[in-house]
Amino acid sequence: AKQQGRNTWQLHTTAMNQHAAERLLMENHLRKALERREFLVYYQPKIDLMTGDLVGMEALVRWNHSIWGLVSPAKFIPVAEDSGLIQPIGEWVLRTACDQTKRWQDAGLPPMRIAVNLSAHQVEQANLVETVQSILQETGLEPRYLELELTESILMQNTETVNMTLRRLRDMGISIAIDDFGTGYSSLSYLHRFPITCLKIDQSFVRRIEGNGDRTDGVIAKAVIALAHNLDLEVVAEGVEEKSQMQFLRDEGCSLAQGFLFSKPVPREEFEILLTKAGTT
Ligand code: C2E
Ligand code: CA
Ligand code: CA
Ligand code: CA
Repeated sequence: AKQQGRNTWQLHTTAMNQHAAERLLMENHLRKALERREFLVYYQPKIDLMTGDLVGMEALVRWNHSIWGLVSPAKFIPVAEDSGLIQPIGEWVLRTACDQTKRWQDAGLPPMRIAVNLSAHQVEQANLVETVQSILQETGLEPRYLELELTESILMQNTETVNMTLRRLRDMGISIAIDDFGTGYSSLSYLHRFPITCLKIDQSFVRRIEGNGDRTDGVIAKAVIALAHNLDLEVVAEGVEEKSQMQFLRDEGCSLAQGFLFSKPVPREEFEILLTKAGTT
């Protein structure tokens, strides 16, 4: 039994070393990815459920590695966060998304708000407000066309500093959305404390709308919609894949949604076609 125990332990450490080695390898490649221009921004449409119109978009980063191909953000964002590389990468995404949004506006396409995801590291940086300010200045994008998405867990750390940062951003006219709302195991009291403008219903709650006849189907989605309405916040449903989910959300008064039912995140050129169509209807 002792022998077996040791083998298990060895197997375990080997797997751990392999995991650590893979992360280190990825980190080294991530370090060069910016100058090699391997990142892309994809755009996912935000839809008005009452009219079916395109009304906004979320920027989602993609890493196109020369050998590995498209690496999922679920894989490389955690590595970027642990290594601090999320700082320059996040700034690049923000600049690219703002710049692209302004270019579309200048081209006469219907002006829409762009939502950009922020990591904890970025929000905790002392100079986040200045960074955002100078990016808006450089690109010429008006602050009311920018929305920043952050998760509940970010609000729970360094509460006072984060609160002050968010107030300054909000005062500039930037919108603040809570991403993956309801998954952060936090208290709801922060909704009063922080200058939030939008709640995004996490995909896991949208998935449960299915209507398998279960009594609890859609209950959380419904509660988040009611909460948002009562607090006078915007509410966006994420990960809408089924018509039945869309109908349920619409009936409950959720007016905005994203999901594969409408469109997956698409490259710039493809999003431009959607924008052009939106401009002609
Ligand atoms: P998120 O911010 O919650 O983004 C939503 C994710 O759900 C995206 O995955 C999107 O492609 C996917 N999605 C959208 N609609 C559907 C649907 O109907 N069904 C399903 N199954 N999935 C859907 P993606 O692009 O792989 O990004 C994963 C996560 O990586 C994001 O989750 C976000 O936390 C992070 N991320 C992506 N881009 C950035 C970025 O620029 N900065 C930071 N800090 N994080 C980012
Ligand atoms: Ca998001
Ligand atoms: Ca989300
Ligand atoms: Ca997420």
